[in-house]
Amino acid sequence: MTNDQTQNRQAADRASMTSPPELAPLDVAGVRIPRIGLGTFRIPSPEVPALVRRALEVGYRHVDTAMMYKNEPGVGQGVRESSVPRHEIFVTTKFPHSLASAADVVGAAWASIRALGLEYVDLLLMHWPSPDVPPEETFEALEPLVADGVVRSVGMSNAPAALVRRALTVTRLAAVQVEHHPYLPQETLHELVAAEEMVLTAYAPFAEGRVFADPVLTSIGAKHGKNAGQVTLRWLLRKPRTVVIPKTARPDRLPLNLDIGDFELDPEDVERIDALGLSRRRFFDPPWQRFAWDER
Ligand code: NAP
Repeated sequence: MTNDQTQNRQAADRASMTSPPELAPLDVAGVRIPRIGLGTFRIPSPEVPALVRRALEVGYRHVDTAMMYKNEPGVGQGVRESSVPRHEIFVTTKFPHSLASAADVVGAAWASIRALGLEYVDLLLMHWPSPDVPPEETFEALEPLVADGVVRSVGMSNAPAALVRRALTVTRLAAVQVEHHPYLPQETLHELVAAEEMVLTAYAPFAEGRVFADPVLTSIGAKHGKNAGQVTLRWLLRKPRTVVIPKTARPDRLPLNLDIGDFELDPEDVERIDALGLSRRRFFDPPWQRFAWDER
């Protein structure tokens, strides 16, 4: 075994043995959501099955995909081929805002379920808010699928708090998935998920890799024998209703991104990371997003 393989094996063993209470799965809206999921954005479908199988082998129990990622078939294949039973795995997918109308959204949900080759999805998210379709219409139309259990829970992605509140008038939402990392603290949505007993899923938790070059995060990591990504995930998961979905396409990094249960951040570390959030940097702001983001 090479040094890298030995370190990975040790990290995977530690990740499965150490599970402090704050990393325990969250029960919300009838589902149990593991706090760390594997992001799969920009991982081509042919590479995905082996990666998902490996992720499940080293301890992941949550995978995030979307119709727009064009890799649902590969994600589903990895889930189906794994020796981990389906009911232990939390699978999230998303439909595009172009299919948010009552006439389209049920078909979109079924298309994802069929592409995944699964009997149900654990969480179905509206990927971006639609500028044309009221969220009340979209989520009312999804209610029968939730009642039948083919969609176990629903949620919104990239939505400001005001829009989430509108959807909550017609349905129970499990999650809001938004960009969230040390440079974008998302205080308003944290307050909302606490009040409404939902979860906040942090996408791009590594700010798409930028955290690994951050001097504050790397210096805190060096103190604890951890990397900047592990420090970031620990910081994000301090909030009791947060879930993280770091992406890696590299099998050797899978265990590292789970191996965060054996250290604590000191109060001064937390203060330094909180200070990075004053910059409020957002890296995902596409032209089709027409709603004002929350100011804080
Ligand atoms: P991310 O997880 O913040 O960062 C991924 C980057 O970090 C990749 O370049 C990856 O490179 C690198 N990385 C991962 N682990 C590492 C490690 N241990 N050491 C060094 N580098 C490491 O970015 P993301 O993929 O944009 O976001 C995560 C997931 O959130 C996505 O995959 C997707 O599932 C979801 N997401 C959702 C939305 C939405 O609109 N709802 C938008 C964006 C993302 P390697 O792959 O080479 O390791």
